[in-house]
Amino acid sequence: MCGIVGYIGHRDASTVLIKGLKRLEYRGYDSAGIALINGELAYRKGKGKVANLERVLKNDSLSGKLGIGHTRWATHGEPNDINSHPHLSESGNVAVVHNGIIENYTTLKKQLTERGRVFQSQTDTEVVCQLIEEIYHSSPNITFEQAIRLALKQIVGTYGLAIIHKEIPDTIFIARKGSPLLLGIGDNEMFIASDASPIVEYTKRVVYLDDGEIAIVTKNSYRVKTIDDVPLTKEVHELAISLDAIEKAGYPHFMLKEIFEQPRSISDCMRGRINPENGTVLLGGIEDIIDKLVNARRIIIAACGTSWHSALVGEYLFEQLAKTPVEVEYASEFRYRDPLIGKGDVLLVISQSGETADTLAALREARNKGALVLGICNVVGSTIARETDAGVYTHAGPEIGVASTKAFTAQVIVLIMMALELGQRKGILTRQKMKEYIIELSRIPSKVEYILEHIDEEIKNLAALFTYAPNFLYLGRSYNFPVALEGALKLKEISYIHAEGYPAAEMKHGPIALIDEMMPVVVIAATDHTNDKMISNIEEVKARKGRIISIMNDDNPEVKKLSEFCISIPSTLDCFSPLLTVIPLQLLSYYIAVNRGCNVDQPRNLAKSVTVE
Ligand code: GLU
Repeated sequence: MCGIVGYIGHRDASTVLIKGLKRLEYRGYDSAGIALINGELAYRKGKGKVANLERVLKNDSLSGKLGIGHTRWATHGEPNDINSHPHLSESGNVAVVHNGIIENYTTLKKQLTERGRVFQSQTDTEVVCQLIEEIYHSSPNITFEQAIRLALKQIVGTYGLAIIHKEIPDTIFIARKGSPLLLGIGDNEMFIASDASPIVEYTKRVVYLDDGEIAIVTKNSYRVKTIDDVPLTKEVHELAISLDAIEKAGYPHFMLKEIFEQPRSISDCMRGRINPENGTVLLGGIEDIIDKLVNARRIIIAACGTSWHSALVGEYLFEQLAKTPVEVEYASEFRYRDPLIGKGDVLLVISQSGETADTLAALREARNKGALVLGICNVVGSTIARETDAGVYTHAGPEIGVASTKAFTAQVIVLIMMALELGQRKGILTRQKMKEYIIELSRIPSKVEYILEHIDEEIKNLAALFTYAPNFLYLGRSYNFPVALEGALKLKEISYIHAEGYPAAEMKHGPIALIDEMMPVVVIAATDHTNDKMISNIEEVKARKGRIISIMNDDNPEVKKLSEFCISIPSTLDCFSPLLTVIPLQLLSYYIAVNRGCNVDQPRNLAKSVTVE
């Protein structure tokens, strides 16, 4: 959450910063702002999207070759002009942009106020620039860099920071603890950003800052050190993402583009990892620890949001295919209850961004207690990817729409491959069985493609009928119970319609009271071993006049008969079913949100890459 950019070089900094902020806008869009040094330290900022800031700059431009920018997801202080970043120190000489939360800001603010400092905003961030300036001014012999390091030592909480000082017009100072930051190395120019998307257009060479590090950046040099002033040599990484991957490519929204990318992202995720002829799976990322995984007492999967739903699918997969006991946890709950985990256990964390703060904290907790820690992430080089003992990338390509789609299917693919590899190594799945699974797995991309080609219109029509429904219920069983949760989440987050996902059989323990002739009930009834039970649940809904929308396979006449609307999809093995059933649900929520005039890619109050706890 929150996007930070910085630029120093020969280009017009304002243009680079605005472009970068637009690419980072998925991380937050409560407000946007930039600060530049050009003789003076000047800034423009305000509530709303980067486009508003761009309009302001059209009439009231800023020029300079060095600057910092921010797009906010507010944690402390309402989203208004004053609380927008950058924040300036009282003298106006220091400007700061921040991602994270300063947990002891009340104490620091009180101390600084007692020393006569006047605050403008309600944010936690403003204490950072005021504190740095206070230390700098009250200790005449220290450098600005020292003042930053001393200030950081007093700060409790998380931060990605970019800091500039009017009188040091050739330098940007950056610091990281808990919120991602990377440095792009250009030719006589440097870029700073929360992720690679603003940088990739200019350079592929990047340095990832780690927690507890600061960097002093000029246009042709960078020095990285710890906050205790110990110099560090950092590895320079080569970015693998392309510019096309972070643009809309003619689609009206990133979400739609990402839904339609799934045949390819699923193939990319499997490429080189499955062998249908031999019936084998080989995941290079977990090769070194595979014996520990085979001998694991149990696997705990921790995640948040959509990743938590793929984790639930993972529970069914590991237990069915590899006979390994699994528990699924919300990362935020797991970490705060002194979990019983240790040597012999595996914690598997799942996060698209690889930066999710709660998931990262769960990982650290489990590692400290001696568990083997594995990760499934999409963003290469992300913090979770770097802190786990081993892991598997989803290779789904950048996901920019705030509502996750292709990351979910890629996570499920990775979980399937892990469960198959584990089942094979444990001797639970025979070579013949493995072959059957892998052959069917390799057919999934074309089945997803078929669904996208054949049901898009149908779903549009369905969406038109239910655009103004105030509530939705989603029901599924077994592998499709997590899909019911995911369908409901998609609808809630982008169309603001209240929706609940339930295991179909649980409905009669409460939600059935909600059903009347106004209630759309989406049943995920792809034929599987629970089909008969599912039919009974559909009957129960029908008896109460609920409006039944079924996601089903063609060969299911009974479900067809009972449903008001049927979306027919190709059949597959039960354990791969979520990869197909989720597609119509993604499209349904997308078209309903578009019909309601919602901002699909940037739903209210939400942001991607949740770096706050
Ligand atoms: N805590 C800061 C604010 O509310 C930054 C928020 C964030 O990183 O999401 O302005």
